[in-house]
Amino acid sequence: MRDQIKQQIERIKGMGATYVDCRWYPFEETNSLLMWNGNLKDASASRESGLGIRVLYKGAWGFAASSDMSDIAAVFDKAFDNARSAAERVTFPVRLAEKDAIQAVFTSPCKVNPFEVPLADKVAFLKAMDEKLNQKGVEQRTADLTFMRKQIVFLDSEGSEIEKLITEVFGGLRVSGRDEQGMSHERKFRLNQRGNSRGWESIDAGFFSQNAERIVKEMNETRAAEPCPKEDRSVILLPGIMYLQTHETIGHALELDRILGYELAFAGGSFVTLKDFGTLRYGSEKLTARADATLTNSPGSFGYDDDGVPAQDNLLIDKGILVGAITGRQMVEEANAKARKQIFDGSSGANRATTFYRVPIERMTNINIDPGTDGTLEDIVRNTERGIVMDGDKSWSIGSNREQFHFATEVAWLVEDGRMTKMVKNPTYKGDTVKFWNSLSAVGDRSTWEVRYVDNCGKGQPNQIMQLGHGIPVCRFDNVRIGE
Ligand SMILES: [Zn+2]
Repeated sequence: MRDQIKQQIERIKGMGATYVDCRWYPFEETNSLLMWNGNLKDASASRESGLGIRVLYKGAWGFAASSDMSDIAAVFDKAFDNARSAAERVTFPVRLAEKDAIQAVFTSPCKVNPFEVPLADKVAFLKAMDEKLNQKGVEQRTADLTFMRKQIVFLDSEGSEIEKLITEVFGGLRVSGRDEQGMSHERKFRLNQRGNSRGWESIDAGFFSQNAERIVKEMNETRAAEPCPKEDRSVILLPGIMYLQTHETIGHALELDRILGYELAFAGGSFVTLKDFGTLRYGSEKLTARADATLTNSPGSFGYDDDGVPAQDNLLIDKGILVGAITGRQMVEEANAKARKQIFDGSSGANRATTFYRVPIERMTNINIDPGTDGTLEDIVRNTERGIVMDGDKSWSIGSNREQFHFATEVAWLVEDGRMTKMVKNPTYKGDTVKFWNSLSAVGDRSTWEVRYVDNCGKGQPNQIMQLGHGIPVCRFDNVRIGE
């Protein structure tokens, strides 16, 4: 098959294409299970294979994909025809940033292939977790598992040949119950980075059980708590909400296609402009953020992106100053041309497609915040006069240009004179993105830093769901409006 693909790439190049690439998926499989109040609500599995082809002709892209491998020449022809039609309407000719031709293999860490584990073992695990969650005060309880495994062979007209085998494992628990007024409260646990391997071995019953006990206890405490006050306080965000703050107001805001206006019709734009790179004070000096696709064991680490560019560790915000973006080969060239100066020096290796029948677009890798020098969570609480510790994403609402936000969290504890006092219910906080990050007054050390997984980041038209990660410490922000 590889030789056939290479022949087709040469053939289309011979017809005048300036660039051709092919992503061949020998297989891509998923398996999802959901247990709800003791009943197996979902046990679905899918397996697909196929190829997706991009052709660049006279500055325009053409794309075609098929799961029928019997006549791949026809798929290449269709991609070329699409590029030819698009070339008649092109407004800004596509150019691709330089890259090296690479021959490489990438395998994500996995000891036990979850697709070789019997269904009965998976259901038994969910059943055991369901029993742990079946406690007084809990009205709704779920336990879920999702497994993904795919092989991708990438070949292009510049001589790249990259093979990837990627396994993803997601899992979690959720409980909800009502308070005396009939209002529902929820607490969840999601499996995140543990050690340096993924696969079935990360489904550790002991670890899940400990977290099952904790979330039931915290949900029941929240049901009995007083309402969150409406006032300004220092907000201390634990990784269970800090990851989403980072995702929505740094990650999405710094996708270069969004900055250039390509997502306006769908998920919105960004308040960031090309003029801001190198000058915008995005946050306080305590904020250093990076896109690190070299982290071991995270869905945001994939070896090589779908332009064939190697994974990189790139600074986005350096001590508060905006310095980088999430980029692919096409957008960096367009941004440099539109800015009439070289802002970006090549692709950052973040162009990814969710499957073979979608085109790659700029996607977050692992959008991380560097650990700081303000000690442990206990140290940060001790140094906070009037604050609130928050954790768990409950709901979120973000301005279409990511300029403002409002988050509700699952749990919160008030902090008075350096001590965590009581829990409050229905905690919320809100702010203006740049002002909020500039109020960052404490960043926890390595002991507070965790890698959280995101399995459902949506972007693009048609929609593409992508998996990624966020390595984040505990952070404190001052003078934040809470409770409304
Ligand atoms: Zn997202």
